[in-house]
Amino acid sequence: MDLIGIYLMDALGEGCPVCRILRKYEDSEIEIILYEHVNDPDVREKFRESLGLCTHHAWKTLEKAYSEPLLGPLGVAMIYEHMLGVYADLLENGTAPEEGECFLCKLMEDKERSTVEAFADRIGELLPEYERSGSILCKRHYEMVLELLERKNPEAAEKLRELQIRKLKGLGERLGSFIDRFDYRAKEAPKKEEVSALPLAIEALKGLETGVTVRKRRSKKQRGILPWK
Ligand SMILES: [Zn+2]
Ligand SMILES: [Zn+2]
Repeated sequence: MDLIGIYLMDALGEGCPVCRILRKYEDSEIEIILYEHVNDPDVREKFRESLGLCTHHAWKTLEKAYSEPLLGPLGVAMIYEHMLGVYADLLENGTAPEEGECFLCKLMEDKERSTVEAFADRIGELLPEYERSGSILCKRHYEMVLELLERKNPEAAEKLRELQIRKLKGLGERLGSFIDRFDYRAKEAPKKEEVSALPLAIEALKGLETGVTVRKRRSKKQRGILPWK
């Protein structure tokens, strides 16, 4: 197995492997910006293009800054002082402030595509390990992998589909046992794997909150708000 295969294998364990990779990637990209590029003019320009990232990434950046003792809010404060100034200047000049695409969202989209492709390309080696692990691809990433496999490797697509159904049903049973623990006749507290079944069920259906999943939701909402578009 090549290095990318090992990297994908490492993401197997619990939850959606693609979402887990994306979340780690998102965190590390934000860390790199905050540690190394707060005053980098190229990065600042990218912030300016979207007037300070999308809502998800703006808040995530602030959260990250506060959660790292070595960082703190200073870097983010400097970036957003600049963005606020840009916004005020645009208003003053009578220009409609335009929010371009968030560069972190774009980065996440590329990473999602390459991860899904790598997963589908190595499905033969990954499938047995995926089967043994507690991982379940979330609905979105299952569909993306499946779509590629249906074109390139229909046999593996069918295997993945069967496995996915089995995994979902297994998780459903675990969640059922968790619910049963709330019965007044139940004598024991829920077991660890029953407690974790609830967040994992949500992860299986909705994925983890990263730029790509939040972005998908936002664009649907926007259509609702602006029905003429
Ligand atoms: Zn996922
Ligand atoms: Zn974004």
